Amino acid sequence: MASLTLKAITKRFGQILALHGVDLHVDHGEFCVLVGPSGCGKSTLLNIIAGLIQQDEGSVLIDGQSVDRLAPRERDVAMVFQNYALYPHMTVAQNLGFGLRMRDVPKQIIREQVLETARILGIEDLLDRKPRGLSGGQRQRVAMGRALVRRPRLFLLDEPLSNLDARLRASVRLELRHLHREIQSTIVYVTHDQVEAMTLGDKVVVMRRGKVHQIGWPETIYAHPADTFVATFIGSPEMNLYRGRLLHKDDRTHFQGAGFSLDIGGLQLNLGESELEVGIRPEDIAIGHGGTPALKAKIEMISDIGSEKYIHARLGQESMTIRAPREAAFQPGQVVPLTVDPDRVHIFHEGRRISWPAGSCSSSK
Ligand code: ATP
Repeated sequence: MASLTLKAITKRFGQILALHGVDLHVDHGEFCVLVGPSGCGKSTLLNIIAGLIQQDEGSVLIDGQSVDRLAPRERDVAMVFQNYALYPHMTVAQNLGFGLRMRDVPKQIIREQVLETARILGIEDLLDRKPRGLSGGQRQRVAMGRALVRRPRLFLLDEPLSNLDARLRASVRLELRHLHREIQSTIVYVTHDQVEAMTLGDKVVVMRRGKVHQIGWPETIYAHPADTFVATFIGSPEMNLYRGRLLHKDDRTHFQGAGFSLDIGGLQLNLGESELEVGIRPEDIAIGHGGTPALKAKIEMISDIGSEKYIHARLGQESMTIRAPREAAFQPGQVVPLTVDPDRVHIFHEGRRISWPAGSCSSSK
């Protein structure tokens, strides 16, 4: 188990700036997830940590010591890739022990470590099988076991579940959480799936175009996104985001959007009449009258996903998604009053969140 620190990592591939001044600290035993859209630089960063790609600028430190001059083998880091390859002619036990054999570890110790790893991953009964006789999820576990068996200082996982179907992904995700609790290893995990990031990570790093947009606990990132990119990338259905201006009237502040006005309470901001964006999560809108004069929206469509309903409505000239309980009985065409709690409204100016809240880990951009 080790800590990991990245200092101002920059990487170019010709004209492409794949990473731009990335700073990050991962504590001993922390599960850190890098998440962002395709091409944002997640895999490049992981490969730089592993030593498989050399950064142009910046430094990688493990337990406070620079590893920039160390070869991948010397960094004591294990990596599991999306397209993990098992040796087809070897049994599961031989696949698990392969890395240790290459390091001339005595046979008895290999046997013990293979058995212990198989126990942790729940694959003891598969040890004599060949990879072709395993399911996708079992193969995935063996691939993870191969990295785990060495007890590396750092465990790097690059989209390890993306070849699994949705159901298996969900169960392996749970197993991964258990596994992390048991081995208490430091993990850096790459995914483009925000649900995976939020359910797995102690710490989530949201990236876009080679930059870190926000680093924080999942609940902080969800409740206090640092900017409009994070606000809309994390959360499903997406946060509703509207452009408009603030107007102050009778000690209250109103957001004037395209064809609607939203009371956002007594908030005082010194932004004059400048344009800004207001975000409201679909679950923070209630259909029905609140204490203040309600907004009105016209329902256009309803998506019933079984456990709840997503109501797609028109608010002035904007569209809106509202999360409603499954028993909600509305019809398309209906005009309904809406209530929005002013404390749940997110305000962004030039893309950045206004009034950074207490309780976040850190932020950088
Ligand atoms: P994905 O989720 O699709 O795997 P990613 O976030 O992991 O994406 P990277 O693979 O790190 O992104 O790529 C970051 C950027 O660097 C992309 O624009 C990619 O095209 C570019 N890139 C990565 N590797 C190379 C390379 N070897 N040569 C040239 N460009 C590269």
